[in-house]
Amino acid sequence: MKTSYHTHNRFCDGRGEIADYVEVALNAGLEAMGVSSHSPLNFPDEAAMRAERLPAYCAEIAHLEEAYRRRLRIHLSLEFDYIPERHEELWSIVASFPFDYLIGSVHFIGEDERGLPWAFDLTRRRFENGLRRYFASDIRQLVGAYYERIRSMAAWGRPAIVGHIDRVKKWNKDQRYFREDESWYRREVEAALQACARAGLIVELNTIGWRNAVRSPYPSPWILRRCLELGIPLVVTTDAHAPVRVTDFHAEAEALLREVACTSLAVLRDDGWRVERS
Ligand SMILES: [Zn+2]
Ligand SMILES: [Zn+2]
Repeated sequence: MKTSYHTHNRFCDGRGEIADYVEVALNAGLEAMGVSSHSPLNFPDEAAMRAERLPAYCAEIAHLEEAYRRRLRIHLSLEFDYIPERHEELWSIVASFPFDYLIGSVHFIGEDERGLPWAFDLTRRRFENGLRRYFASDIRQLVGAYYERIRSMAAWGRPAIVGHIDRVKKWNKDQRYFREDESWYRREVEAALQACARAGLIVELNTIGWRNAVRSPYPSPWILRRCLELGIPLVVTTDAHAPVRVTDFHAEAEALLREVACTSLAVLRDDGWRVERS
């Protein structure tokens, strides 16, 4: 595991300086690290970076990239929040900056009573309230709306990596709301993966799921297996929100990749993404 392409920092809801994450990556023997703060939004949100900080963010990463040249490759990225009703507006905020790649993630589905995008993954209570209020307590509707957004993001095509593709399971510990082996859920996931494969997207094995309430990586092992069957490239990411988490659960991820017989991972080179034996 030589890369960590999904990290946050003080510019968004992460703790610590970007330089602290870089030092941890270097000391862990990584070859590359991507800095991927939450992209700016055009409505109030606690996690997102403020748009006016983008120039400072890019400048700081460019400075570190130069300072660490030949020791660690540092990439400028964002975790771009994909919200179909607003994505062109949100894209226009970031479009002029020279990102090496984007991670596209869905954290919002539907709208709350104020007409603002509804964040389904902040707390279980909010999830439960939203499920009742905005989806008439129908979990299939909620999950369907989530995966529809993943498909639409894949068709949009700007991100290189799909962030935590089955994030909608975040509060589904012990299959509290749905069973992943039910045929309707399998069909949703399959359609999302087909869309990713068509668009040439990379799927991340995001280890933060092991730390979240669900205690299971994003995506679940059966989905990883299906990615491999469809030829979808994988990367291992940790979604670090603190410097010590830059290689969080790397050992578990390595064991899981062995279990699903994954022998190669995507790596960002000068000429773009390459799939290389790991
Ligand atoms: Zn995320
Ligand atoms: Zn993230």
